[in-house]
Amino acid sequence: DPRINGIKTTIRVVPDFPKPGIMFQDITPLFLEPKAFKDSVDIFIERYQGKNISVVAGIEARGFIFGPSIALAIGAKFVPLRKPKKLPGEVISEEYILEYGRDCLEMHVGAVEPGERALVVDDLIATGGTLCAAMNLLERVGAEVVECACVIELPDLKGRERLNGKPLYVLVEAH
Ligand code: 5GP
Repeated sequence: DPRINGIKTTIRVVPDFPKPGIMFQDITPLFLEPKAFKDSVDIFIERYQGKNISVVAGIEARGFIFGPSIALAIGAKFVPLRKPKKLPGEVISEEYILEYGRDCLEMHVGAVEPGERALVVDDLIATGGTLCAAMNLLERVGAEVVECACVIELPDLKGRERLNGKPLYVLVEAH
């Protein structure tokens, strides 16, 4: 896809952010380039329209930037998967292990019904822990996760192997 290279060139690598040794993939420059930003969303829309997906679940925070546009275009609902204590209603929670410590994602009870077909969206997959927790939330309420979609994959971290065979679609690989 000739659009991919234009997307790739907008991604900025910031060394030692947020701590020493981390090469942070900064996607904010993508949003400054309307053509590349639109291309990234369009590629996802083209892939997922007509697939009978009824829910797009976006992961806080950068999954909130891509998820709603995809949901609106394909006629699906949007469900935010949030960090703890942000959602006001009854929630289910899924903890996951980080390199240092642990984190948690929450989803509103009742937002997704059993049997729904879900797409999970985030900006980047590193170790895969975040996407794995997101999939667990959806599967616990009886939804079927059709695929996970990210803009960037860090394949050296082998996050794909943590997704239990669930398909992962990415636009760009970074090393
Ligand atoms: P994982 O759980 O796969 O190890 O980490 C993925 C999560 O951390 C995603 O929610 C993603 O937004 C965030 N993340 C980790 N590293 C980076 C990075 O280099 N750039 C960006 N934009 N997000 C990152």
